[in-house]
Amino acid sequence: MAKATHDVIIVGAGPAGLSAGIYCGRANLRTGVIDKMGPGGQVATTDWVENYPGFPEGISGLDLSAKMEEQARRFGADIILAEIENLKEEDGLFTLCCTEGDLRAPAVIIASGARSRELGVPGESRFKGRGVSYCATCDGALYKEKVAVVVGGGDSAIGEAMFLTKFARKVHVVHRRGALRATEVLQDRAFKNSRLEFVWSSVVTSINGGDKVQSVTVRNVKDERTHEILTDGVFLYVGLLPNTEFIRGFVDLDEWGYVLTDDNMKASRLGVFAAGDVRHKEVRQVVTATADGAMAAVSVEHYLSETGKAGQ
Ligand SMILES: Cc1cc2nc3c(=O)[nH]c(=O)nc-3n(C[C@H](O)[C@H](O)[C@H](O)COP(=O)(O)OP(=O)(O)OC[C@H]3O[C@@H](n4cnc5c(N)ncnc54)[C@H](O)[C@@H]3O)c2cc1C
Repeated sequence: MAKATHDVIIVGAGPAGLSAGIYCGRANLRTGVIDKMGPGGQVATTDWVENYPGFPEGISGLDLSAKMEEQARRFGADIILAEIENLKEEDGLFTLCCTEGDLRAPAVIIASGARSRELGVPGESRFKGRGVSYCATCDGALYKEKVAVVVGGGDSAIGEAMFLTKFARKVHVVHRRGALRATEVLQDRAFKNSRLEFVWSSVVTSINGGDKVQSVTVRNVKDERTHEILTDGVFLYVGLLPNTEFIRGFVDLDEWGYVLTDDNMKASRLGVFAAGDVRHKEVRQVVTATADGAMAAVSVEHYLSETGKAGQ
């Protein structure tokens, strides 16, 4: 019978996976944390996080994720750069088929998070990386004294639009509703920012250009009129998609593809747990992801000691 490589394997090294890694490591479990992009997750692509407790002045997303990684390594978590392609259960162990070879453990925490949803309009695919972006923190500096369009009205869209105004001379925020969904404090700041211009009740219907983006076509959803906004780039923040393709059919998912769990982060299959943005829940933030990670780790610890499966 194949031996386990770890006591627990955590898929994803974002805030949820790293937090689970810290707790599992401190519980002396042989802990593998696997990430296809390297540690960090979405928060590493966030300019500034000012709602995570313990950092009264705020902290850059990159620094916050680096601290979490350091803490997980300190407690012995084995952080591996690889993509998990699918999962199997054989002889009481889960085999995770990954790009670096198979990994085996009696418990798994799915912390694979979510990614930006695509807008699905003409021009989006064609101009990806040439003016269409999902990460202002990554690409914002390219827009010095240029014009940008941000699509969306939630916290991510408004936070990143404000970040872009550090570089761009004008940022148009196109939002399909007549009011923002972002937190009040962000809205107050956004409305005071003279470089931001709001295009209300409107949707982007196409992204246009030659070699790179030159404009977007915008339709007002109330009067159906269309107009063009000249721009050098488009940043899209129109929601999330869960990273659950590799576990479809393995555990129960909700209608949008998020993993269903109980309050202790147990998924529908014994020995499988889920934490963070990948989970069916209301609030997707760093603080809820780290809390989920801690809870999942404690549940794994209980599960392994009840079943005597640790150290196999
Ligand atoms: C622009 C933006 C700004 C934000 N601002 C804030 C903020 O100010 N405050 C706040 O609290 N939250 C903020 N958030 C939300 C926050 O970043 C997320 O809630 C948090 O990162 C979720 O953590 P997670 O660990 O659940 O998932 P993620 O951060 O999504 O991490 C999941 C990880 O899993 C990896 N992965 C996925 N599939 C696989 C696979 N098959 N194999 C291996 N690895 C895999 C991914 O590479 C990724 O690193 C923001 C998000 C964005 C996009």
